[in-house]
Amino acid sequence: MAVYKSYMGGNWIDSASGKTASNINPANTNDVIGTIQLASREEARQAVESAYFAFRDWKRTPAPARGRIIAKAARLMEDRKEELSAAITREEGKTLAEARGELTRAINVVEFCAGESRRMVGETIPSELPANFAYTVKEPHGVVAAITPWNFPVAIPAWKIAPALVAGNTVVFKPATLTPATAVILTEIFNEAGLPPGVLNLVLGSGSEAGDEIVCHPAVKAISFTGSTETGLRLYAQVAPRGVKVQAEMGGKNPVVVMEDCDMSLAVESTAQGAFGSTGQRCTATSRAIVIDRIADEFVERIVERAKSFKLGDGSVAGTDIGPSVDEGQFNTVLKYIDIGREDGAELKCGGNRATGDGLDDGYFVEPTVFDHVTPDMRIAREEIFGPVLSVLRVKDFDEAMMIANDSDYGLSSSVFTNDTNLVYRFVDEIETGMTHINSPTTGGEAHIPFGGVKHTGLGAREQGSTSLDFYTELKVVYVDYTGRKREGNLY
Ligand code: NAP
Repeated sequence: MAVYKSYMGGNWIDSASGKTASNINPANTNDVIGTIQLASREEARQAVESAYFAFRDWKRTPAPARGRIIAKAARLMEDRKEELSAAITREEGKTLAEARGELTRAINVVEFCAGESRRMVGETIPSELPANFAYTVKEPHGVVAAITPWNFPVAIPAWKIAPALVAGNTVVFKPATLTPATAVILTEIFNEAGLPPGVLNLVLGSGSEAGDEIVCHPAVKAISFTGSTETGLRLYAQVAPRGVKVQAEMGGKNPVVVMEDCDMSLAVESTAQGAFGSTGQRCTATSRAIVIDRIADEFVERIVERAKSFKLGDGSVAGTDIGPSVDEGQFNTVLKYIDIGREDGAELKCGGNRATGDGLDDGYFVEPTVFDHVTPDMRIAREEIFGPVLSVLRVKDFDEAMMIANDSDYGLSSSVFTNDTNLVYRFVDEIETGMTHINSPTTGGEAHIPFGGVKHTGLGAREQGSTSLDFYTELKVVYVDYTGRKREGNLY
């Protein structure tokens, strides 16, 4: 059985805390994959200190040389793609096809960031004064904490670690406790690519202890967090008095709007993929279908049929469409929300139970679930469930659809299904989400395109794409006077 350890200052360390946690396969809880040695507060502090001492030399390493190491990490990820994909499926539960998709995205992001190392350009700006000009340079912050969730245990760490390092920061990586195996392999890969000791450090430990110690450490100058809105906003408030920079990508409650003139087959298939794919455990998962009343009966009938057609099972077995919830806590949360939906008066059209039989009894499987006649005030229409549960809300027209779509604390992703170009552009103008899709699922993104949300979903600069390095750099402005004389004009 594997033993997972933290990594700091170039060494894997045995934790003195004596505390451990088990890594368990959510598709089969008899499969205990390994034991995590949970880092103590003292060890979390040591990791930050290792990053602090490594920063000076790493900052001085030319950006393209940093980029070469990151490019090598991308190649090593490619070499270990199957191993990483299998590890994702075993500890997180998504299917092998989904895990391979995650790896492809992660490798693309790391490659993209390696290229950015040759584009860390500033501006030259002409002055109001003769023989003067100004220019800008981008500089790293220092120690950056990367705090990540379990649902994309390779891609999300990769899209934080790679740009942070390219920009010249050193990193303390604190992954979710539920997904240590992938975090260990990713750390091995980045270090094997040639990072000097202390540049990337891994802390395996609980959020409330090791995580808290990292975010409270005065040497940490910036925190890139992905996880729940509750944790993200708490962390933001906690570090605000120190003026720490925070980038937080948090929860979602993503709507699709289905108009009368849509291609119904496309709308149904895309909504089903968005709602039930990856077991609904994507931040961009579709959780609300807002459907024009006149076509709602047909939409519901067809999506129920599609929901029932998915094959649940162990993600490593060929032919499985949907894996389990990630752990007992998440599984109970999903079942609790299904009960809440029933109690609040929503009409359960399919699913609604733990899935059993046929190899499912030892895993955290929930039947794909569709509720109809959900109203905007119901909790299943407002709160993030993070499971295979879709709420259908019926509306009379486009204006009502937009009002309901935007009546949410969250603002990550959305979609519209229509062939009316005017409605497409009205939707794009009016929807309050950081990303939106036209006639395609709410899920998905590309390595070279910015990613993130608004409202209680997103804080700070967008991750990935042209904006990927923004959060990880400070701008320094340099004024150059080459007159050799006392300044004659006034600059205010
Ligand atoms: P979470 O419970 O908020 O945990 C996220 C990370 O924060 C974990 O590493 C956790 O450690 C750590 N943490 C918890 N308390 C902490 C503290 N006091 N100080 C420092 N770190 C702390 O979220 P999750 O359940 O792992 O992930 C699911 C959530 O992520 C969903 O809400 C989903 O929407 C969101 N998400 C958002 C995006 C996006 O881009 N918007 C992408 C993916 C996921 P432990 O694991 O040890 O508790």
